[in-house]
Order: sequence, then structure tokens, then C-alpha cells
Amino acid sequence: MNKHNFGAGPGILPQPVFQQAAAAVKDFNGKGLSLLEISHRSADFEAVMDEARDLVKRIFKLNEGYQVLFLQGGASMQFCMVPFNLLPVGGKAAYINTGAWSKGAIKEAKMMGNAEVIASSEDKNFNYIPKGFSVPKDAAYLHYTTNNTIFGTEFHEIPQSPVPLVADMSSDIFSREIDANQFSLIYAGAQKNLGPAGATLVILREDLLGKTERQIPTMLDYQTHIKGGSMFNTPPVFAIYVCMLTLRWIEEQGGLSAVEGVNKAKAARLYQAIDDNPLFEGTAAREDRSRMNVTFVATNPDHEKRFDAFAAERGIVGLKGHRSVGGFRASIYNALPLSSVDYLCQLMEEFATVHA
Ligand code: PMP
Repeated sequence: MNKHNFGAGPGILPQPVFQQAAAAVKDFNGKGLSLLEISHRSADFEAVMDEARDLVKRIFKLNEGYQVLFLQGGASMQFCMVPFNLLPVGGKAAYINTGAWSKGAIKEAKMMGNAEVIASSEDKNFNYIPKGFSVPKDAAYLHYTTNNTIFGTEFHEIPQSPVPLVADMSSDIFSREIDANQFSLIYAGAQKNLGPAGATLVILREDLLGKTERQIPTMLDYQTHIKGGSMFNTPPVFAIYVCMLTLRWIEEQGGLSAVEGVNKAKAARLYQAIDDNPLFEGTAAREDRSRMNVTFVATNPDHEKRFDAFAAERGIVGLKGHRSVGGFRASIYNALPLSSVDYLCQLMEEFATVHA
């Protein structure tokens, strides 16, 4: 049976990417060696790293002055690397708290200095995006999470900020057109729209660095990785290669505007199906609904387990909500086709006719 993968991460990647990655594990570039056994300093891998970097710059239309890094440690490592590198000793940073991942970032920043939470949606269990906040002019940066993977909310506008913007884009990077040049630093764990777990993308303005008067451990210092071209130490060769293939795929689709068009259609279809179905209910405020992670519950709690089993028996994978919130979460990342969303919507309708 074909599976329809709605998992939140590691998530679905494009089928051609899986095929090319599998082929490269057997024989990379026709060299008679696996991608997994070649030196990261080989010309063949240097070319992969260069192409991955260039693709990020092209797809995001980045101006001069940005560095693109592929690091390890996941987005969680960035929670501490960001303040280590950008929060001056005795200084202040502003954070927006929109869920578990924002909280993780705030926790680490508080260890480094004054991390001020300037807006939060915790009062309603993070089911909306805060609005109308003001950002202190004396903050070193404003940090926010563009898409809240667990709670199914997403910023549809970039916050106005008088200070450098830092964004965790782990779960909606490359899913829509966004003016990346408005950000001073963007980071994302790869394992959703970008590639497999193991690589972490960091895009940053180099002129931001070297201003904290703090000693930074070598591996946590962005300058180390800029100087090393993301190869200060052995990089995650396979993960970066698959990111490169996925970035190529995004470009082949027609770039971000094309990908966004499909993602909008998928989200509209699924939210409509939820809103039209008396057995289900969306959990996020309508105007803040995520186009990547669609969170909903069964209006009758007894139906939750039943629908879970009903969908699983019919080839749906990864629909369970995050363990901290329950309910359902359909992650509809770039590589998930509209036909899979249609299929899920049909199953919800079928379930409703049986259980109404
Ligand atoms: N930020 C967001 C928005 C996420 O969705 C996740 C993981 N799903 C993380 C951070 C943590 O990422 P990692 O597991 O790569 O540390």
C-alpha cells in the first residue's frame, strides 16, 4: 500500500530525491565509491557544498553580505549559538514566545544574559500569534519562530523590528516566498522541507559578529564555521548532499512562488475539510493557521482513537498530534502532494458518514 506521510519531522522528501540519494550511496558520481566513504575534502564533495550554498542564496535571493552555513546540532544547538554570538555581555535580546520551540530558545538565551519576552501567546496555550507588540530599540536582536510546529500557528507577516531579526524557520523554511534579506540570521534544522536530520542550515549577516565581548567556544563560534567553509570539522556529508538535491528540486519546481502556490492549495483544502466536518475542529486561530502543520481535534473525544486507527489502516502515517498537546497534526510539507491531502480529506468525510 502506498503510504501518505503526514509526519512532522523527520518529514517527507521528494521521491526523486530519495532515488538520487539512494543511487549516490551505492556509487557517487560514477566514481565506484559510495558517497558515504569519500573524503569531505574531495573535489566531488566540495562541489556539493558549493552548490548547496549557491542554491540557498539563489532560492532566497540573498543580497551580498550573507554567509550560508551547514552545521550540526540541530535547531536546538542554534538556541544557544545565537545568544553566544549575538547577545553582548550586559546587553539585552528580545524574544517572542509562541510555543515549545520558542521557549527552548528563550531558556538558552537567559543563561547568557537578559532575554526579554516581549510578547507571548502562552495565555491561550499558544493557539494564536501575538500582535501589536513593540520591540525595544536597545535589544541586540529580536528572535521569533516563524512556524510553530507543535501548535500549528505561523507568522504570516514578518514582525516590524527596529533591531536585527533572527528567526527559527525550522518548519516552514522554503515553503513560501519571504523576503529573507529582512533577516540578520535565519536557522533551520533540515529535517522537514530541506533534507534529512543531521544538517542545520544557518544564514547570517557577517557584519553582526564579533561584538559581544564574550569568549565563544570554538565549535559554537559562527566565525569558525565561516572560516572553515562549514568544514572546520567533518560535516554531515550525506545530509548536506540530500539538502542539495532537495534545493535543486525546489528550484526545478519553479522556486518559492511555485512551491507556495501548491502549499496554499493544500492548506486551503485541508482547513476547509476540517471546518466543514462536524466531527473535527481546528485548534489554531483562523488568521494564524499554519500552512505546514495543520492541528485539529475530534469534537467527540471518543472518536480520536477511532479516527487514528481508521486513517492508519488506510495508509495515513504520522497524523498524531505532538505528545504534549494530543489531537491530530497533519504536516503538509513541500514534498507531500495535493493528492495525499485530498485523500485525507476524503477519509475524514467517509469517517463522518459512518460516525455522525
Ligand atoms: N524549532 C522548531 C520550529 C522545530 O520544529 C524543531 C523540531 N521539530 C526544533 C526547533 C528543534 O529542532 P532540532 O530537533 O533540529 O534540534
